[in-house]
Amino acid sequence: MTDAIEATGLGKRYGRRWALRNTSLRVPEGRVVGLVGSNGAGKTTLLHLSVGLLDPSEGHITVLGDRPGSGARQLARVGFVAQDAPLYNRMSVNEHFRMGVRLNPHWDATVEVDLHDRLDLDPRQRAGALSGGQRAQLALALAIGKRPELLVLDEPVASLDPLARREFMQSLMSLAADGLSVVLSSHLLSDIERVCDYVIVLAHGEVRLAGDVDALLAEHRVLTGPRRDPLRLPAGQTIIRERHTDRQSTVVVRTTGEVLDPSWTVSELGLEELVLAYMESATTPTTRLRSVGSPP
Ligand code: ATP
Repeated sequence: MTDAIEATGLGKRYGRRWALRNTSLRVPEGRVVGLVGSNGAGKTTLLHLSVGLLDPSEGHITVLGDRPGSGARQLARVGFVAQDAPLYNRMSVNEHFRMGVRLNPHWDATVEVDLHDRLDLDPRQRAGALSGGQRAQLALALAIGKRPELLVLDEPVASLDPLARREFMQSLMSLAADGLSVVLSSHLLSDIERVCDYVIVLAHGEVRLAGDVDALLAEHRVLTGPRRDPLRLPAGQTIIRERHTDRQSTVVVRTTGEVLDPSWTVSELGLEELVLAYMESATTPTTRLRSVGSPP
């Protein structure tokens, strides 16, 4: 099976500054992938490399087995909506859909009906006169209408109202159930938790965590117990994030086995908490994915 995205040693530099570095990834097809990270972490850069809007400064990336943007056939297989939902401001809603029909041999006409049902848009209205949320929904409908195999979305729900956001997320899930691969960046971790079955966490231009959500959750635990300083844990555990009060230590660990020490209370964690732990570990100099046994 071809991967939706495969990257090896991928990097992008703007002048002297690296926006993305050392990125090696394999994202299987048919997954809904959540791309998360702080502002400036490199999410947009990775998405633009995935759709061929940027060329790598180092390393390689393939999307659905081909170099991104390498020809009409490859472009037809990938749908992309950029962060600001770019449209032609002087063209009407109707003209955007007519353009979709002309440019895409496999156009799905139901996206137009569906959008009008939901938003009650005037088809003659110019895109430049739409609200931010209406623009985002039109751009999404156009991307879905081309029936891509991979849909790449840069913060697609940022300007949607809560109802539109929920409906959009539900439609993504049903598209994914039909075999569409989706990669979306978002700061809304609750949405990511609800729809994504694969997650990539970026920090400072590097991948901190990537993998199947269920597998990652199974490999991580929160340990709570009396304060230990320096922290000592059994072998096979890597500290992702640690917090200490005068009396108590709380540690998120990646573990290859059960935690048997009875002085720890062991609990599972949700995806949101896991992602935050990795994002926080990237900003806390004292906890940089320290293996147990290494000096604090
Ligand atoms: P956000 O969540 O704020 O959208 P992001 O994770 O998408 O951020 P990127 O837009 O990929 O981050 O930016 C990564 C880094 O690359 C940042 O430090 C940014 O300043 C830098 N960068 C991005 N685009 C350019 C550019 N065209 N020229 C120079 N630097 C850039």
